[in-house]
Amino acid sequence: MRPRVARVAIAAPLYSLFDYLIPDGIAAAAGCRVRVSFGRSRAIGVITALGDESQCPIERLKPLDAVLDAEPLLAGRDLEFLAWVAAYYHHPPGEVFAAALPLRLRKAEAALAVGEPVWALTRAGSAQLASPPARAPRQAELLAWLGAQPGGVAPQSQLGGELPNSRGVLRALCAKGWVEARQLAGRVDPVVAGGHDRVLNDDQAAALAALSAGIGGYAVTLLDGVTGSGKTEVYLRLAAEVLARGQAVLVLVPEISLTPQLLRRFQARLGSAVRVLHSGLSAGEREQTWHRVRLGLSRVLLGTRSAIFTPIADLGLVVVDEEHDPSFKQTEGFRYSARDLAVVRAQRADCPVVLGSATPSLESLRNVQAGRYRHLRLDRRAGGAQDPHVGLLDIRDQPLQAGMSQPLLDRVQKTLEAGEQVMLFLNRRGFAPVLSCFSCGWLSDCPRCDARQTLHRASGLLWCHHCGAQRPVPRVCPGCGAPELHPLGQGTEQLEGFLTERFSAYPLIRIDRDATARKGSLERQFARLQAATAALLVGTQMLAKGHHFPRVTLVGVLDADGGLYSADFRSTERMAQLLVQVAGRAGRGDRPGRVLIQTRYPDHPLLQTLVRNGYRAFAEEALAERRAAGMPPFSHQALLRADAGDAQTAHAFLDAVAAWAIGLAVAGVEIWGPVPAPMARRAGRHRAHLLLQSTQRDALHGVLNALPPFAADLPAARRVRWSLDVDPVDLY
Ligand code: ADP
Ligand code: ZN
Ligand code: ZN
Repeated sequence: MRPRVARVAIAAPLYSLFDYLIPDGIAAAAGCRVRVSFGRSRAIGVITALGDESQCPIERLKPLDAVLDAEPLLAGRDLEFLAWVAAYYHHPPGEVFAAALPLRLRKAEAALAVGEPVWALTRAGSAQLASPPARAPRQAELLAWLGAQPGGVAPQSQLGGELPNSRGVLRALCAKGWVEARQLAGRVDPVVAGGHDRVLNDDQAAALAALSAGIGGYAVTLLDGVTGSGKTEVYLRLAAEVLARGQAVLVLVPEISLTPQLLRRFQARLGSAVRVLHSGLSAGEREQTWHRVRLGLSRVLLGTRSAIFTPIADLGLVVVDEEHDPSFKQTEGFRYSARDLAVVRAQRADCPVVLGSATPSLESLRNVQAGRYRHLRLDRRAGGAQDPHVGLLDIRDQPLQAGMSQPLLDRVQKTLEAGEQVMLFLNRRGFAPVLSCFSCGWLSDCPRCDARQTLHRASGLLWCHHCGAQRPVPRVCPGCGAPELHPLGQGTEQLEGFLTERFSAYPLIRIDRDATARKGSLERQFARLQAATAALLVGTQMLAKGHHFPRVTLVGVLDADGGLYSADFRSTERMAQLLVQVAGRAGRGDRPGRVLIQTRYPDHPLLQTLVRNGYRAFAEEALAERRAAGMPPFSHQALLRADAGDAQTAHAFLDAVAAWAIGLAVAGVEIWGPVPAPMARRAGRHRAHLLLQSTQRDALHGVLNALPPFAADLPAARRVRWSLDVDPVDLY
């Protein structure tokens, strides 16, 4: 007997799955998308299971409208993984399943078939949509039609059906570069595993041997290696071994666009089998890659956090590079940790997972302590480079110019004169974080947030980095009309201006989100640096991301104090990671490096431990503190956030949830709040949160299981925006 009932995850904010009858003559399989009627409208969903029974009476079930895929897009293993994810994060399952699909397939569009040509709007083509070619109406029509397709992509069959006889028009548009032909090639990417040109050092060889012995089974390994110790070299060799067995490799990285070097290295070593997934690609490109790895045509996927949901044929290895990086956590909408999910995914695929970092997260170190993760260490830099010398620079009594003390300036001068490169790290973009009036005390407050608007002098704007609100820089004080306003503090724009004047003989490269907003500009900046001998490099935390700048021998940290006394209990961990990662850019070539950290708190115990004894010693102290305070990773948290037009409404909603949760009286679950969020007003909304914490994950999840449906049904829920964050990484 054919199963009669399909259980469907509908792409909507609903906490349950819904059963539909499978009409006679329709072939349905788990993992196929379906169109169903839901309430008064139509919806798209994914079949998660087939069966003969339902909790609803069978005669009350509605039939499916249509099954959209002839073959399942998601395999049984993928469906189980996604169901687990939805349950763990207490997120609507339909939205979790949708997150695993390329944009176009979240709608009712047909999936690309192997070998079928696809037409896609190019970037130039998208730019033409606003001013279509007036003298070529058919071109304009096709352009508009393609522009209206999800992602600007349509398969040939659909285009031919809706706009017949359009070959000539397509050819003209392709010639103009507005449209391009793509196809999901059926060819299998050749794997070029090999091309090793150097001998591994003893530590690397030992790590590789331990890891390769574990291929074919699940185990988590923390590869804890100082910056430049050759971790990437180990991943590459391990990946080559897994590929040689005919299996696939998933590599998660924090941000691909910031580390083009890493991608090139993977491609050079593993061949064209390496495909990438990140948000900078067009929807069409992403869908191609998605199908290719799903079908086993490509075997290496290098991607940012959302790549964790990609179905992959024969997954044999998962690598998370820079596993401590906060960008593995999605902090809006569906909030998940790709690092944590990498472990779950590997367990389900029964394959090894390697978490690599020079500054491992306290969570991972805790798992090592508890015997859950294996710990492999690389303590020396590979290839003979020496560890940098790190020192603190007390700036309490120092006059500063654009944030730089005289000793740091002298050191910069010497380094440049020696023909070497300098990197200066200041984690604030813009010219100055505040503009102020000395006559009346006016400050550049954001009208919509509890924050200041940053002065961006080059663009003549006051700009809030929290909500994006902008206004032109006022000519006179808006408070008292005084003719002069004064910038307070420094940002990278100011530092750049000062250094360009001071060291005019040397090229200066600024790396931050403003300076590299245009596509390709980051690559151009890196190329300039590579071509130069003596040069200055100024930037924000974008500089801390795994770059390899062999000629940098001096790293200056302008302000280490921001993270020392913050309200967030994770801020010291972040600060330590950032400092060590930035410091790790120094002396990666044959000349030794020096790191100077400016601070007003040279006796701070964290800085002392970090500078004298390194990150591991710091991490041990920090873990001991967390243990004593019962904070994560020694307890588990979930954060319920709410915001509303006024503070009262947000608090009333959270009060109701808190009362309910307390009433459940689950042993071992603490409920703290509601309290105002650290930034109580943002983008005009008043924000508050409720923290749930327990040393037992099961107990916590016992409460969380019932929380979203309860909260969604509260009358107050209609007047707030709320979200549940399981394992939050910030309380912001
Ligand atoms: P990590 O990923 O730990 O930062 P990498 O793998 O990027 O380290 O290695 C740092 C540098 O050392 C790179 O330039 C790399 O090519 C080089 N390197 C790595 N392993 C070796 C080795 N065994 N012998 C010589 N050079 C090496
Ligand atoms: Zn004033
Ligand atoms: Zn704002």
